[in-house]
Amino acid sequence: MRPEVLFPLFRPVNTLKGIGPRLATFIEKLAGPHVVDLLFHLPTGTIHREDAPELHSGLITRQIVTPVTVLKHFPSKSRRIPYRISCEVGVQSLSLVYFNGREDYLKRTLPEGEDRIISGKLEEFSGKYQITHPDHVVRPNEVDQIKRYEPVYPLTAGVTGKVLQKAIAQSLEVKTDLTEWINKDLIARENWPTWSSALTLAHSPQSDKEIEPEFSVRQRLAYDELLANQVALELVRRSMRRRRGRKFDKSGALVDRIENALPYKLTHAQQNAIAEIYGDMESDGRMLRLLQGDVGSGKTAVALMSLAKAIQSGAQGALMAPTEILARQHYEGLKGFVETAGLRIELLTGRLKGKKREALLQDLAAGDIHILVGTHALFQDDVIYHDLGIAVIDEQHRFGVHQRLALSAKGRPDKGGVDVLVMTATPIPRTLALTAYGDMDVSIIAEKPPGRKPIVTRAIDAERLDDIANSLSRKLQDGERIYWVCPLVEESEVMDLAAAEERFEYLNRLYPGQVGLVHGKMKGDDKDAAMMAFKNGETKILVATTVIEVGVDVPEATVMIIEHAERFGLAQLHQLRGRVGRGGLEGSCLLIYLGPLGETQKSRLKIMRETEDGFRIAEEDLRLRGSGEFLGTRQSGLPTFRLADLAHHSKLLHIARDDAKHFLDQDPDLQTDRGAAIRTLLYLFERDSAIRYLQSG
Ligand code: ADP
Ligand code: MG
Repeated sequence: MRPEVLFPLFRPVNTLKGIGPRLATFIEKLAGPHVVDLLFHLPTGTIHREDAPELHSGLITRQIVTPVTVLKHFPSKSRRIPYRISCEVGVQSLSLVYFNGREDYLKRTLPEGEDRIISGKLEEFSGKYQITHPDHVVRPNEVDQIKRYEPVYPLTAGVTGKVLQKAIAQSLEVKTDLTEWINKDLIARENWPTWSSALTLAHSPQSDKEIEPEFSVRQRLAYDELLANQVALELVRRSMRRRRGRKFDKSGALVDRIENALPYKLTHAQQNAIAEIYGDMESDGRMLRLLQGDVGSGKTAVALMSLAKAIQSGAQGALMAPTEILARQHYEGLKGFVETAGLRIELLTGRLKGKKREALLQDLAAGDIHILVGTHALFQDDVIYHDLGIAVIDEQHRFGVHQRLALSAKGRPDKGGVDVLVMTATPIPRTLALTAYGDMDVSIIAEKPPGRKPIVTRAIDAERLDDIANSLSRKLQDGERIYWVCPLVEESEVMDLAAAEERFEYLNRLYPGQVGLVHGKMKGDDKDAAMMAFKNGETKILVATTVIEVGVDVPEATVMIIEHAERFGLAQLHQLRGRVGRGGLEGSCLLIYLGPLGETQKSRLKIMRETEDGFRIAEEDLRLRGSGEFLGTRQSGLPTFRLADLAHHSKLLHIARDDAKHFLDQDPDLQTDRGAAIRTLLYLFERDSAIRYLQSG
């Protein structure tokens, strides 16, 4: 149950004065449905109004507060001419300009011959000072009503700055001080304000410095959010650990046999990852480990060695991929070694039907199949394993947590359930991994198998597109394959498609019959067919929107051409480039851009030319874009923060992680006073679902 102190903060925004149902809908879209969401809607800028007792040219374009004596009104005679009021500021003259100004109203607020204080942006027009639509006009004794600093908030259609400021002012009054959840020493060391005063201060910035993520008030608020995130993850992790897992045998013949069957020696990085996995598998906790390795780093071999370990102790293994084509690729890639080692491996996807499927399921239930490779079909209700001991899930973030759980539920509780290894090819900076996978242990393969030739990356102006297209004939004669990725147009699939189809036709005129097309709107089967045709060499150039299956191996693919490369994020460019140069042939990547390029776009292309290190690229991506936009999309499955910005607050994240661990060691059930405060914190950031992972239930 949500603590009572938070009730006022979780009232709907329409309980605030002046916010009706219509406005509430807009505010909900902008900030969120509750009063607390307004508190967390922090300003992104400030208006600073300078006091200007006199006017001078240095003040032009600035926001000023200035005393005026009103001289004369010049009501407009036609629609196109504005209403003008001439004034005096000391010895200078100043015109106030109103478009569609109403005479009765203006004569009342700015009577001729009287003094007023006004504020607005000073402009110069035909050599004279002017302010258009002053934002405040007050009497001299009301000068304090004009704020010298005013916060500027992100807005949306339907919500003006004034309305939002009023709503936020009310929500600031609703809040009360809450018992401190941050460690006392940390508060003292950082000299942070209390939660309540931090919010007040955050909403009344007195300079541009005070809206920066480094400002101590912002740091405190960010820390709150990060602490909630880390405590929640740590609670989940602890509850996983408490579940008894299965202890697999320390040694056995099968692991060695499989390792010997591999046509290469495992790299150190692979060996290290395997050692970490085996450590989990041999312990009596349940494994939940993330294996991160760039495209081509050799994760499959690590998966195979993990499966072997389980099978060696008499269990079965499952390997799940997000698509039919990837599942098939894994199956075909592993079949050789696995059968040489005397084991049986089978493929189960949605396409297997009828008698064949039944027969397979029977063998699976009887324990005659050692490794089952497949898609989501692996955890349908009627798929029953004899004794599933390990599940390896490839390409993590296409699977939801609930699918992960469904698969692990296929194990036998009496034997300690299923160990889970999740593999992802998306390098995620350490800081982000901590927020997203704090509940998992992480192994990283940071080194690539030997003998990889570097991929030559060039950035080329779009003017030379025809030259590039024509130059492909030589590559084609040599039997090489080419990916041609088409522009991402404003995230509109329809436009993407039009661009890709146009490019397909253009290339097909140059190289008739040798060009294929694959895009996001195609049906699964058609997509697979187009991919297979390219893999088999029936087509030699594959025009694609960004749907090219991550992980599909086409060893002959040597050239990756990316049009409008300036529109892609770094992570995406890196993933795409990873598709080529896998077969020992030298690869190249052409980034075709349409100028002029902005600074960030230039930096991105530069980084792509400089490095192939996925982790470095991920760090740079985070730095360039800020964590909010990292990986660009919601589907990445990474958590989003409202108050914390990981590009700036990663140090705080590490402190929060350590603090969460340390604190839960002492108070695992959140029983102490600080424990209770942390409970409130979890509710405040709506991470309270983690509370059910408390030991006490
Ligand atoms: P990932 O799944 O991480 O993208 P893969 O497992 O598909 O990478 O491996 C990429 C390629 O590298 C495969 O062709 C594989 O046979 C090869 N490979 C894997 N490990 C090694 C190694 N230790 N030495 C040489 N080649 C390797
Ligand atoms: Mg792979």
